[in-house]
Amino acid sequence: MTTNWAGNVTYRAREVQRPRTLDELRRIVAGAPNLRVLGSGHTFNHLADADEQLTLDGLPADVVIDDDCVSFNAGLTYGVLAEHLEGRAALHNLASLPHISVAGAIATGTHGSGTGNLATAVRALQLVTSTGDIVETERGDPDFDGMVVHLGRLGVVTRLTLDTEPFYEVKQRVFEGLSWEHVPDVFDAAYSVSVFTRLQGVDMVWLKSRDTLPDTLFDATPATVERHPIIELDPVNCTRQLGVPGPWWDRLPHFRMGFTPSKGDELQAEYLLPRARAREAIEVLRELTLPGLLVSELRTAAADTLWMSPMYGRDTLAVHFTFEQVPIDGALREIEAAFAPFDPRPHPGKVHLTPGVYERAADFQALAERLDPRGAFRP
Ligand SMILES: Cc1cc2nc3c(=O)[nH]c(=O)nc-3n(C[C@H](O)[C@H](O)[C@H](O)COP(=O)(O)OP(=O)(O)OC[C@H]3O[C@@H](n4cnc5c(N)ncnc54)[C@H](O)[C@@H]3O)c2cc1C
Repeated sequence: MTTNWAGNVTYRAREVQRPRTLDELRRIVAGAPNLRVLGSGHTFNHLADADEQLTLDGLPADVVIDDDCVSFNAGLTYGVLAEHLEGRAALHNLASLPHISVAGAIATGTHGSGTGNLATAVRALQLVTSTGDIVETERGDPDFDGMVVHLGRLGVVTRLTLDTEPFYEVKQRVFEGLSWEHVPDVFDAAYSVSVFTRLQGVDMVWLKSRDTLPDTLFDATPATVERHPIIELDPVNCTRQLGVPGPWWDRLPHFRMGFTPSKGDELQAEYLLPRARAREAIEVLRELTLPGLLVSELRTAAADTLWMSPMYGRDTLAVHFTFEQVPIDGALREIEAAFAPFDPRPHPGKVHLTPGVYERAADFQALAERLDPRGAFRP
């Protein structure tokens, strides 16, 4: 039996099946009473848990790079995909780490900061359903917006096609000492902006820019040394800062491939709130006292049309919490009560107590019943 990355979930599947061909995968899927794909196991909850698990690791990477898109085995991590794209093309954004599988990230609406979430780059996908059939869909198809952020519920996503852009470089600079009152105003200061706080004050603001980095940021000052998001930790596992240019894949994430991301021994929760109410939500956040909190990160993401995306229909303020591995239900109750007036949607891949309200949930349920008539991917 295996556990997730954080070690807080032990999967009930006794083994992980590793098909070597698409036909073998189709046979396994069609015969499984209850199945989930295991991506890179970075969710903090039971989303990848089932009686049987399957990985796409045994299938070839099969990366096909076109002028403005790339198609590949959906189980690749962003880090591996970036190696294939190196120097030739780039994605629009990345999460805080390149270690996660593209399919798993897209399944949960994983995001970076400043743009649409990572799933908004999906142009087309191939799905093997519980009957063993292959379904292909592309942007513009009637079901497409329901199929991209799918929570592992619809079948096995075997291939993905993502939009690409010409290769670009990014520079990163950390600012320290920002006053709380300026926090709601910093999110347009660069291509990607992350505010790190332990709630008593603002620790740092990380700016990532595709062109010129600002030299000033309200009353904050540029850091003169590299930083880790958890300020007391060694930044050795972090991407280069201090304005040093580097490829998009080595600056947009906070953490470097080949190193343990973040702290390693932790739990994460995150709530997606309407950006229009960011100022009020940040005032509420400041008042919280959360035992076990290591750091909170504030980012933004653009509205999208993907039914189960936490950013569906609204520009979003993402409020993330990294906790020690201690009981955190009390802290989650406090956060969820404080954010309740803002219609919070929890990040589906992180710990939470209350599910969010999704306008298209009934449509998604109907789609799941149609694509998975056997209920093999039902939670
Ligand atoms: C250190 C750390 C940092 C993080 N940083 C961020 C961040 O910056 N932004 C953010 O939004 N999130 C972040 N996350 C959360 C993470 O991005 C999500 O939990 C993501 O879903 C993880 O993908 P995975 O493949 O590892 O997940 P898994 O747990 O393996 O899978 C997630 C879900 O996708 C399904 N799935 C996976 N592959 C397929 C497939 N091929 N076909 C069908 N279903 C599939 C699984 O069954 C499961 O339901 C972070 C997590 C960690 C541990």
